[in-house]
Amino acid sequence: MEETGQRSAQFAGDRRIAAPLKRAPLSGWGRYPRCLTDIYRPEKFAELAELITADPHALVARGAGRAYGDAALNAPGRVIDVTRFNRMLAFDDATGILRCEAGVTLGDIIDTFRPRGFFPVVTPGTRFITVGGAIAADVHGKNHHRDSSIAAHLASIDVMLASGEIRRCSPDQNADLFHATAGGMGLTGVIVEAELKLRRIATAWIESETVRAANIDHAIEIFERTDRLYDYSVGWIDCASAASALGRSIVNFGNFATLDQLDGQRRAAPLSLKPRRSLSVPIDFPGFALGPFTVTAFNELYFRTHRDTPRALVDCERFFYPLDSIRDWNRIYGASGFVQYQCAWPMAESRAGLVETLEAIARSRRASFLAVVKKFGAQDGLLSFPMPGYTLSLDFPMRPGLLPFLDQLDAMVLQRGGRLYLAKDARMSPAMFHAGYPRLAEWRAVKAAVDPNNHFSSSLSRRLEMVPA
Ligand SMILES: Cc1cc2nc3c(=O)[nH]c(=O)nc-3n(C[C@H](O)[C@H](O)[C@H](O)COP(=O)(O)OP(=O)(O)OC[C@H]3O[C@@H](n4cnc5c(N)ncnc54)[C@H](O)[C@@H]3O)c2cc1C
Repeated sequence: MEETGQRSAQFAGDRRIAAPLKRAPLSGWGRYPRCLTDIYRPEKFAELAELITADPHALVARGAGRAYGDAALNAPGRVIDVTRFNRMLAFDDATGILRCEAGVTLGDIIDTFRPRGFFPVVTPGTRFITVGGAIAADVHGKNHHRDSSIAAHLASIDVMLASGEIRRCSPDQNADLFHATAGGMGLTGVIVEAELKLRRIATAWIESETVRAANIDHAIEIFERTDRLYDYSVGWIDCASAASALGRSIVNFGNFATLDQLDGQRRAAPLSLKPRRSLSVPIDFPGFALGPFTVTAFNELYFRTHRDTPRALVDCERFFYPLDSIRDWNRIYGASGFVQYQCAWPMAESRAGLVETLEAIARSRRASFLAVVKKFGAQDGLLSFPMPGYTLSLDFPMRPGLLPFLDQLDAMVLQRGGRLYLAKDARMSPAMFHAGYPRLAEWRAVKAAVDPNNHFSSSLSRRLEMVPA
C-alpha cells in the first residue's frame, strides 16, 4: 500500500497521540469507492483509548477490509486499523469458547483449532476476515437456516466506547449494546475482544451433495426439501438463463463428515488437510474482459460442467472458501471495481422477488459472474441483515448505467419488504436503508446513549444518514 503520510506521533488539538498515523488510498473489497484516508494502527489498548478520546475527527474501525463497499472507509475522517490486536487469549475445551482479540482472523482460528477438532459455527465465504469485522457485520454463512448469524454464537463482546471505557456486553449483560454492536458496522465503538463459541468437528471433510436445478422453482424446492437434513446449503444461479430455465442453478449442500464416513487414508488423520495452492490475479483485467458475452459463456460452461453428485467428500476449505485460493480475485473486474448487490426478502415474497430480479437482470444483459442464492432462518439484532426467507448476491462490474439499474432493483426489493446488506453496499440511498431496517430507531437510541457526539462515523453511515443530523 502506498504510504504518503507521516508515521511519527500525531497531534490532535493540544494533545499528543502516540499511535502512528499514515495516509493511503483505501477501498473495500469491491474497489469502489476509493479514497485517500488517514489510518491509525494502534498496538495497545491504551493507545486506542487515547486516540479515541483525544482525536476530534470522526473515527471508524477497520479489520481486514473485506466489506465490499464503504463500511470501513471514512473520508474525510480517520480509520483505526485494528489488526495489531491479534492475540488468542484463552480456550475452553469443554465449552468450545475462544477468547480472542478482535483483530484475529477467522483463518488464524481455523488453522489453530481445526486440527484440534473445532471450527467456527458461522463462517462467511472467505476466511480472510477479522473477528471484529465478522461481529460488526453480524455475518452469516451457508448454515444460516439452521444456526442463524455469528451473534448467536458469541458469549460476550468487549467494546471500547467513545469515552474510552471498555464495556462488556452479551445477550444477558448490557443486551441493548450487544444487539446494537453485532451488525452495527463499527458505529457503537471499537470491538476489542470477543468470546466466540466454536463447534466440534470429527473430521475436516464435508460430505457434500450437488444437484442441478432446472429453474428457480426447482432450486427452491431443493432448498425446502433438504434444509432439515443438511447444515450447509448454497445455490449458484446462472443469471443469464431465461424463460422456463430462469434461475437454473447448481445447488450444493453438506454436513461435516463423521469418522466412519472417511476412507482408510483420510481416517488415519481425519482433521488434517493438504495446504491449498493459491494463484493470484497479477493485474487489473481490462474492462472488456468481463463483458456480457464472457459472463454468459462462463455461466453456460459452469452449468454444463456440474453434474448431479451424490455423496462426495470435499475438503472443508474448498467447500467454504472456493474463492480464497485465488488471491486478489477482485482485480478481474478491472480498475473501476465492482459492486456486490445482496438483497433478502421475507419468505412469502422470496419466490416472486427472485423471479422478478432475475428477469430484470436477464433483460438488462448485465448477467452477474457469480450469483449466489441461500435460505435464511431466524435472526436477532437491530441492524442485522438476514431475515427468514431467501437471499441473492450478485456481482456487477462498475459500468456506465449500473447505478440507475441497481436503483430499479432496489425499488422492487423494497416493494416486497426486503432489504440490502450493509457489508456489501456502496450505493443505496438513505430512503432504501431506512425503509429496509425497521429497528433503526431502537439502534439509534443505543447509539445516542453510548456515542452522543457521533464520534464513530463512516462513509457508509453518513451516506445512509444512519444517525440523525
Ligand atoms: C469473498 C467474500 C465473501 C464473503 N462472504 C460473506 C458471506 O458469506 N456472509 C457474510 O455475512 N459476509 C460475507 N462477506 C463480507 C464480510 O464477511 C464482511 O464484510 C466482514 O465484515 C469483513 O470483515 P473485515 O474484518 O474484513 O472487516 P472490514 O471490511 O474491515 O470492516 C467491516 C465493518 O466492520 C467494522 N469493524 C471491523 N473491525 C471492527 C472492530 N474491531 N470493532 C468495531 N467494528 C469493526 C468496520 O467499521 C466496518 O463497518 C464476504 C466478503 C468477501 C470478500
